[in-house]
Amino acid sequence: MAECSLENCNEECFENEDKCILHCDKRDIYSESLVKKKFEEQLKIKYSNSINKFEKIIFPDINNIFDQTFNEISFQDCTFYGIQILNDFPHTDDVTLFDNCIFNNYISFHHIHFKCNIFRMCRFSNLVELTIYDSTFKKQLFYKNLHNNYPSKLNLIYCKFTNERFIVKKANTIIDTIKIEYCRFNSNFEISNCLNITNLTITNSLFNSNLQLLDNTIEKMSLLLSTIEGTGLITNSTIVSNDIYGVVFNEFANFQYSKFKSILNLSNVHFSKQSSFYNTTVEQSINLENTTFANEVNFIALSSKQRIIDENKNFVECSTPANVLNRETARKIKDSFEKQNNIIEANKYYVIEMKEREKELEITKNPFDWLVFKVHRWSSNHSQNWLLPLVWIFIISYLVTSIKTTYGIFETILYNIFIFGVLDKMANVINPFSIMTRGEILTFNMLFLKVIIAYLIYQFIVSIRQNTRRK
Ligand SMILES: [Zn+2]
Repeated sequence: MAECSLENCNEECFENEDKCILHCDKRDIYSESLVKKKFEEQLKIKYSNSINKFEKIIFPDINNIFDQTFNEISFQDCTFYGIQILNDFPHTDDVTLFDNCIFNNYISFHHIHFKCNIFRMCRFSNLVELTIYDSTFKKQLFYKNLHNNYPSKLNLIYCKFTNERFIVKKANTIIDTIKIEYCRFNSNFEISNCLNITNLTITNSLFNSNLQLLDNTIEKMSLLLSTIEGTGLITNSTIVSNDIYGVVFNEFANFQYSKFKSILNLSNVHFSKQSSFYNTTVEQSINLENTTFANEVNFIALSSKQRIIDENKNFVECSTPANVLNRETARKIKDSFEKQNNIIEANKYYVIEMKEREKELEITKNPFDWLVFKVHRWSSNHSQNWLLPLVWIFIISYLVTSIKTTYGIFETILYNIFIFGVLDKMANVINPFSIMTRGEILTFNMLFLKVIIAYLIYQFIVSIRQNTRRK
């Protein structure tokens, strides 16, 4: 019988292969039960020491072969076909568990207390789903990942990272899913520079250090019912759809330069310390109705995108103050700017707040409020446009004067509308301008006109102040 062609292996060749049962390629035969049985027997014969390092072995689809008869194991340059389900297997704490290994299928670890680094410079085919359940990690999961290669699906459920950070960085393939459920991270959690994450779900987890989601492109991000005790960074990222609910940020939270393509809904989210939405883009709108800010927030350059047609008749995007989903959101943003004495920015959101209030009012339910808000908007765009009251003053004065002088019927018509002459007498009593009118008789119609003019002058002054004043 010929010997295995691998150096330092003197096992006999398996069937027509040029290598032994441990080292031969099992791409096509891994599911054959006879092969698996023979492989398992051979493995146990060859590796019966207390410390075992498996080198260059091609593993078929086998489960739970690493029982207590294998003490202190590690894998170097191994290839895994088929499904690997490893439960409660022992390992050393100073050697990496999988070094330069290749995985081709489902991997699952259950109830393991890892003391070592797990994957060093490993490669995962795009079929690999790695599920780790109820395990603790003392060191890193992906250690010195020079290939920037990660499983397509990564599920961590009831896991605890006690010492070293968790990091997924510069993934060079599509990551279909990263699911973190009921986990605890005592060191930094970082996912950065990954431009192809389809689903990132973090739920019911505790981050005792920093949560860093930096420079990523994520199709769907869910951050639910979790607490971040360290800094929470979701920056420079593009997030197509998001679901953020019941999250507590106990340190600085930063969303700067991130772009949310759907509604950014921070429902039941609490910010204990400072937070920043500097240059954050919410393409549709933002909802802060159920969000609490216990400290200062930076909303400078928070914006939405609007498509407009430029002079060359092309669609271009321009930034506008962020669209808000409701009045409360506008009020919170306005309030934050007011606290920082940024009155010009506060005014922008004051107008949005007023417009949202206007939407809430119905003519049938609150006719007077409805009228007041409409007049306020028409006359000065909620005290933002100083030119508008001037235009109205000019138009009204011009119309009154021209009608009065040309036809002389203005007084007659209005007098007939207010049929009671007593109103004219009342007008003299009410008339705030009587000192200036040198005893001339002021009709009620003229008082009405002057009140309108006075209101518009007031709006003109307020609008100018709104645009320039410091409170
Ligand atoms: Zn061999």
